[in-house]
Amino acid sequence: MENLWNDTEAGKQQDILAERVYSSRLLGANPNLVLHGGGNTSVKGVSKNIFGENEGTLFVKGSGSDLATIEAKDFVAVRLETMQKLSRLESLSDIDMARELKLASLDPNAPAPSVEAILHALIPYRFVDHTHADAIVAITNTADGGARIREIYGDEVVVLPYVMPGFDLAKLCAEVIPDLVKPRTIGMVLMNHGIFSFGATAKESYERMIALVGRAEDYLNKNAPLVPAAAIEHAANWFELPELRKKVSAAAGFPMLLRSNAGSATLAFARQPNIADISQRGPATPDHVIRTKRLPMFGRDVDAYAQAYKDYFEKNSKQAKQPLTMLDPAPRVIIDAEFGLISAGRTARDTQIVEDIYLHTQDIILRGEMLGGYRALGEAELFSMEYWDLEQAKLKKAGAPKAFAGEVALVTGAASGIGRACVQSFLNRGAAVVGVDVNPAVVSLHGTRADYLGIAANLTSLEAVKGLLEQTIRHYGGLDMLVLNAGIFPGGKKISALADDEWRKVMAINLDSNLAMMREAHPLLKAAPRYGRVVVIGSKNVPAPGPGAAAYSASKAALTQLARVAALEWGADAIRINLVHPNAVFDTGIWTEEVLAQRAAHYGMTIGEYKRNNVLHEEVSSKDVAELTAEMCGVLFSKITGAQIPIDGGNDRVI
Ligand code: ZN
Repeated sequence: MENLWNDTEAGKQQDILAERVYSSRLLGANPNLVLHGGGNTSVKGVSKNIFGENEGTLFVKGSGSDLATIEAKDFVAVRLETMQKLSRLESLSDIDMARELKLASLDPNAPAPSVEAILHALIPYRFVDHTHADAIVAITNTADGGARIREIYGDEVVVLPYVMPGFDLAKLCAEVIPDLVKPRTIGMVLMNHGIFSFGATAKESYERMIALVGRAEDYLNKNAPLVPAAAIEHAANWFELPELRKKVSAAAGFPMLLRSNAGSATLAFARQPNIADISQRGPATPDHVIRTKRLPMFGRDVDAYAQAYKDYFEKNSKQAKQPLTMLDPAPRVIIDAEFGLISAGRTARDTQIVEDIYLHTQDIILRGEMLGGYRALGEAELFSMEYWDLEQAKLKKAGAPKAFAGEVALVTGAASGIGRACVQSFLNRGAAVVGVDVNPAVVSLHGTRADYLGIAANLTSLEAVKGLLEQTIRHYGGLDMLVLNAGIFPGGKKISALADDEWRKVMAINLDSNLAMMREAHPLLKAAPRYGRVVVIGSKNVPAPGPGAAAYSASKAALTQLARVAALEWGADAIRINLVHPNAVFDTGIWTEEVLAQRAAHYGMTIGEYKRNNVLHEEVSSKDVAELTAEMCGVLFSKITGAQIPIDGGNDRVI
């Protein structure tokens, strides 16, 4: 395990909180120690209150932050004395504890302190580091895990049995304080959960963590060495995945995204001879159940999975003190011999997190098997984590999801103008968006974010169309909304001078490629959980053509007719297809200031007058068209298909 400590960097930190931030980030930088918000850290110091008195203070990670990116403001200052007093209570429910932790905070606007705050307060060292290190979890999730931990660490760590994080765990820790202060003790292992290290300085605590986990890794490398899987070529038919997504979404009761990982490691794992057994023993650590559910789905029988989940809820919820709200019974992890690892979620970010967690889980399971058998906690313990009071309270507080949460939109011509604005409008509504353009800039136009996939492709190639749909499926599981926007507008040319080549080029891009997109996307749209929607970006030139634009006008008119026929043919599949006819949208690439000035002068107008030369005297922007396009995929248009809507500020030839 690599020690990332750098004395020069550490020396730049101004105070203990800055040091705490520095070394927390070092932990967060290693996914084998800390994954997506797991783990927490603290430091004990002093703060001055409004009366000018010094108060012992625990600065502990607030909930919702991630050690990899944590900042000083993400640490909550809580009264140390109150923490210690709370630990002496006989019992305390988790809801009451969460309230008391908030009350003990020195800033009412700070995030909620970690549920492990009391435990951190009790550990009699200034710096406390806690991770869910893979190596510790792998070793403790075996039949003789406790003995192995003893063998590795001797009396240098205190070992606690598994207890749910929160008040009970803090109470248990209070009992072992005499062991924690022994000179040889440098850490504490929590079975099936993780490890604590502590020290007088940030460096001491961090380096102990690295040393302790490093010893566990060495033990694993000797006794359960992981060999990289041999290269496996996947042979999945990805066009079957949208059907699976439809079933998963039906079980959930809302649309879900599916993300696939068909790397050699996941395929090899999915093809383990005993996969049906080892995949069904439970998660590596209980805090994963909130993201991954207790068990992955092995195979494709979603109904059976959902029924088993309902049975599990029925059986275990009987023990609960108050009525529980059942979570949706859809799987979050699917293991499939052809697709490899599939992760499901309401947002692209969720699917990415689930995938990361399970990639680590696979290795932990394989190593557990080499150590005599992977084991997880029992069903009841995992259930109490999944249906923890604090998690149930979160559910009640959660607001309504965004309009297109769990859905996928594909926009062509997405690198500029209306297409680019459409991408933003769909992202804003919670969709995962695939932006396609012949311009390679489309790939990095929105930075790196899980909910955007940019693909550079030439839509006049059928292979390219099929390829980009396959990429869409592998990233997000299917397609719900298609925006056909790509097109070209060649310079004005009279019919008398229009060459066959130019005519064919305009038709190939503005018409033929859209036929290919529609035909190839049809099975995906048909399998969309809330049914497919298509919006075609037409043109004012369809109802009101102008001289000098024969090829463009004819291509858009033919495209309109194609869309109208699709509306008739696809109604039986509940796919809606509507058109917008924009005009005079000037914030696009083709309208430079120079061209605008020329056109305005041609009509004897100012640029402003020229831009608003319509019935309403309103300027029409790309964003206006994009927002209308997105709304046409929403509930407002749920009973409309085959419609054509002009968006042009009112045009007397169209009206
Ligand atoms: Zn923990």
